[in-house]
Amino acid sequence: MSDLTRLTLRSALDGLANKDFSSVELTEAFISRIDAVNPQLNAYVLTTPERALDDARASDARRAAGTAGPLDGAPIGVKDLFCTDGVRTTAGSKILGTFVPPYESTVTSHLWRDGAVMLGKLNMDEFAMGSSNETSAFGPVVSPWRARGSNRNLTPGGSSGGSASAVSADLCLAATASDTGGSIRQPASFTGTVGIKPTYGLCSRFGMVAFASSLDQAGPITRTVADAALMLTSMAGHDPKDSTSLALPVPDFSQFIGKSVKGLRIGVPEEYRIDGMPEEIARLWDDGVEWLRAAGCEIKSVRLPHTRYALPAYYIIAPAEASSNLARYDGMRFGYRGEGTALTDVYETTRAEGFGPEVKRRILIGTYVLSAGYYDAYYLKALKVRARIAEDFSKAFEEVDAILTPTTPSAAFPLGEKQDDPVAMYLNDVFTVTTNLAGLPGLSIPAGLDSQGLPLGLQLIGRALDEGSLFSLAAAMEQAAGFTARPEPWA
Ligand code: GLN
Repeated sequence: MSDLTRLTLRSALDGLANKDFSSVELTEAFISRIDAVNPQLNAYVLTTPERALDDARASDARRAAGTAGPLDGAPIGVKDLFCTDGVRTTAGSKILGTFVPPYESTVTSHLWRDGAVMLGKLNMDEFAMGSSNETSAFGPVVSPWRARGSNRNLTPGGSSGGSASAVSADLCLAATASDTGGSIRQPASFTGTVGIKPTYGLCSRFGMVAFASSLDQAGPITRTVADAALMLTSMAGHDPKDSTSLALPVPDFSQFIGKSVKGLRIGVPEEYRIDGMPEEIARLWDDGVEWLRAAGCEIKSVRLPHTRYALPAYYIIAPAEASSNLARYDGMRFGYRGEGTALTDVYETTRAEGFGPEVKRRILIGTYVLSAGYYDAYYLKALKVRARIAEDFSKAFEEVDAILTPTTPSAAFPLGEKQDDPVAMYLNDVFTVTTNLAGLPGLSIPAGLDSQGLPLGLQLIGRALDEGSLFSLAAAMEQAAGFTARPEPWA
């Protein structure tokens, strides 16, 4: 019954409800597929098959008793920065090594509350710093996609590369992910999957390993827009354990799927037409505009004049917050501990051996921009830019209801290609960091293939807390795009 792994989350839940198959059967299908495929993709860093089967049996019992929750029996993967009670959590870093959290992240606890089954923990860039999943202490994740006629291994994107690769290669029905500057949307775009970074504060950050706390948000990576709505409805919700969590009721996002988008005004920001953008991406963007026009939307040009300062501001603010958040890894309380006789020696060897080079680079940059004498010139200035960017969006949203952009400036690139060039790597985030800086929701959907047969995504940006419109628009675009391509070796 191996094709059970190809179901969407929605259709798997329907199949479970209709008793076409049990959660145990569905979970076993995923476990055998993971056994067969994960050694090549390296998407999971830890599988939890016994736990998954226990979860599945309990789910089948709930279904028999008529007490099934909204995600009951659905096997999913969890990015390894969500703390899972009793299950090793590493954030892709050697410094957390064998850390087994004694508590559960709020987001995952919501998923288990609603009946989901945990298959295991998914690979990621170390502390979510990266755009290619190559900074992971567990080695890179391989995308199931290949360029036409090529055997070169491609990146699934990052930092949620394990989540994107696993969803796209049928190693789970859906996955949790996190996005600080694009880490849900860029990997979704690279792998032909759907990803949404919700409004800042919609999902609790409690129990997520912190990278840059004012930017970090959890969200799902899924196969379809409807699946993303199902996942986000469960993941979101107020949590007193996160002071930035919004005390608002969570709508059932599924109700927005299939809703008419007639009359919605869509902004197209000229500033996102950057130099050197491949022609195919520009063309796809135009296609996206046409799909929305055909669905009855009104298309308008909008100005986001501070866009070009977003990436530099992000690469000051995110490292600044990271340098503070990562100060807690000193080898004393949890995770890896280096050798040394004096306390400071232990700190130094722990941090020198425990962190990888990209994390060290961020800590150095962050410490520098926060230090006396540089604080005003860098950090404070970046905060002012952040405010201008948020203002640009507020002004644009006086005239439009959502904004359409490409998700990434290129399709997936070969592993190893940008590893030695941090700036080239950082440029991946040029279209995605703006929403993190402004706290706004952004959703990526697969819109087409490039000339090499690789997926390309389009991004919808919405007003704060207007995920509903994004889901309606994305569902309309998904229908118009008719994206059915699958990664060939796995089709
Ligand atoms: N690629 C970006 C970075 O390296 C974004 C990462 C993320 O969103 N977690 O910081």
